[in-house]
Amino acid sequence: MVELIPSQDAVMQILKRTGAFREGHFIYPNGKHSPHYFQMPLAFRYYDTARVLAVALSRKFRLEKDISSQLPKVSVISPSSGGIPVAFGVRDALNAEQIYWAEQEQGARQFRQYVNQGEVNPCIIVDDIIRSGHAIEETVELVKSLGARIIGCGAIVRFDSAPGEIEDVPIKSLIDFDVKFYESDEACAECKAGVNPETVRF
Ligand SMILES: [Zn+2]
Repeated sequence: MVELIPSQDAVMQILKRTGAFREGHFIYPNGKHSPHYFQMPLAFRYYDTARVLAVALSRKFRLEKDISSQLPKVSVISPSSGGIPVAFGVRDALNAEQIYWAEQEQGARQFRQYVNQGEVNPCIIVDDIIRSGHAIEETVELVKSLGARIIGCGAIVRFDSAPGEIEDVPIKSLIDFDVKFYESDEACAECKAGVNPETVRF
């Protein structure tokens, strides 16, 4: 039987192969140390890989009655630039009618000008990775301010420290990742082992 939704292991293999999942010793912008790092656009730079991942995520959405019953009058929404290829892939797989992406403008997450109240279909919010969930939460507020309802939410990778649902909608993901962060150099196993750290930008 064809595996319609690849296992977490299969998805992790894809992320490793494309360089999107990296192991080593990383210092994040907030100063925390970690033995892992995701640079998701590296997986989405390959068209075939991007399609496999987006189609897999779309299948999880299609299983939800509230989504399948409203297609194609659905909007797929990305909270960030990293989520744009995911949004296009999921939109394509679901044949949803609209696509939007938010950008940070003057400190606020916004859509482009002239997106009006009442024009946005019921929404599925998708991102490449959900770390804290803040981007998703801000996007929910943005969507609600335009009078639209959230019917789905998901990402390729969800850190298990992120919320499991938003607006009573469960967050779908292909990988639920068990994150490891060290608050300080002293607590970091890689620091103790003398592994050279790399500073990451996001
Ligand atoms: Zn360290």
